Amino acid sequence: MNNYLNFKIVGCGPSGLLLAISLSKLNFNIYITDLLTREKLINKDKTYAITHSTKKILSKFNLWDKLFSYLYKFDSLSISDNVTSDFTILTTSDLDKDIRSLDTIGWVVKHSDLMNVFFDEVNKKDNIFFKSTIDSSSDDIKFDYKFISTGANSYYKKNQNFLDFKKSYNQSCLTFEVLVRGNVPRRAYEIFRKEGPLALLPLDADRYQIIWTATTSKSIDRLNSSKSFLLDNLSTIVPENFKIDQINSDINIFPVSLSLCMPIFNFSKEVFVGDSFHTFHPVGGQGLNTCWRDVNVIYDIFNRDISTSSKSLNIFKYKYYLIRSFDIFSTIVVTDSLIKFFANNKLLLLPLRKFSFILLNRFNLIRRIILNHMTKSLIYSSIK
Ligand SMILES: Cc1cc2nc3c(=O)[nH]c(=O)nc-3n(C[C@H](O)[C@H](O)[C@H](O)COP(=O)(O)OP(=O)(O)OC[C@H]3O[C@@H](n4cnc5c(N)ncnc54)[C@H](O)[C@@H]3O)c2cc1C
Repeated sequence: MNNYLNFKIVGCGPSGLLLAISLSKLNFNIYITDLLTREKLINKDKTYAITHSTKKILSKFNLWDKLFSYLYKFDSLSISDNVTSDFTILTTSDLDKDIRSLDTIGWVVKHSDLMNVFFDEVNKKDNIFFKSTIDSSSDDIKFDYKFISTGANSYYKKNQNFLDFKKSYNQSCLTFEVLVRGNVPRRAYEIFRKEGPLALLPLDADRYQIIWTATTSKSIDRLNSSKSFLLDNLSTIVPENFKIDQINSDINIFPVSLSLCMPIFNFSKEVFVGDSFHTFHPVGGQGLNTCWRDVNVIYDIFNRDISTSSKSLNIFKYKYYLIRSFDIFSTIVVTDSLIKFFANNKLLLLPLRKFSFILLNRFNLIRRIILNHMTKSLIYSSIK
């Protein structure tokens, strides 16, 4: 039993909370803290796409069944290129056999439902201690390891023990919920436009989450425009049968970047997890799924090394960064290439774009490789 070790997790977003729940199963003492109160952490207007690799991770930590009633399945994915007018529709028949029987390409979940389920779980554990920094008194606990899950704009990244690489796309995402009619049931959309991709994620039969990428200045203009203007604007670029009746929520904006925070060689006992470790362009809906794959690896390393010694704590972070590197680099390459090739109207790239859709529409093998890579990622078979 490891319950003599004290771990600190800074940041209680979806990465920090899943890490706390998973490590609590190994009997460590977990101290979690955030700048926000529990209520503010729960009540954020965000929506996430969930992949099959995430399903496997959440099932491993006994969270899938608890979350299941809040998830909405989508069983077809329309990918289109607004510049060349090409499109393809991927369906569950393009999935590998081992996941096809679930009859879904992925799921969609609201942030508040997810966080409620996670906090219910945290409440049940007597070795997880949550403190909002607002009410934290200075405690004198000696922490054996610190996990930093403070999100994309963490000030911890400026720490000299880490190298922070960042590429700004000069893009931002507008996100909001709409009421729709005439849509194909359970269909998600990824529409490549010259200003950036537009994703439409089904929340139920007649509600969709819009994730609309454009240059930051254009996104700010749209954010400041009236809802009716935004609605008219959006109606001209969604698929023909997709009739939007009204905007059903506040409109949020978040900056888009590609970033990676790597350690400089030393034995300091802290690592980055989730968005504070890496961020990607939201195209393909990989963000949070990749964050939770970090958590899965951290759990596996500690679970394997059941009698965690101070020597193993010293080398823990090198194991972690090494194991995660392949998956993270592949996500960087895929998301960044999609933006380079499909978020513009450069004449030279048009033949290549047309050719990609010809391949997708003619060859089942290509459809399968793309869809299964998106939903299973490279590490699916290693999640046990
Ligand atoms: C406004 C916004 C909207 C988004 N909308 C979507 C969306 O609709 N769909 C989607 O797929 N992705 C969306 N994203 C991206 C997605 O939220 C992230 O990929 C995901 O939340 C990463 O989870 P995380 O736990 O790593 O980081 P976060 O969710 O960012 O959590 C970080 C936590 O750390 C806390 N924190 C920060 N600094 C400190 C500190 N010094 N001390 C203590 N605590 C600290 C913060 O309060 C926060 O609770 C959005 C991001 C933003 C910023």
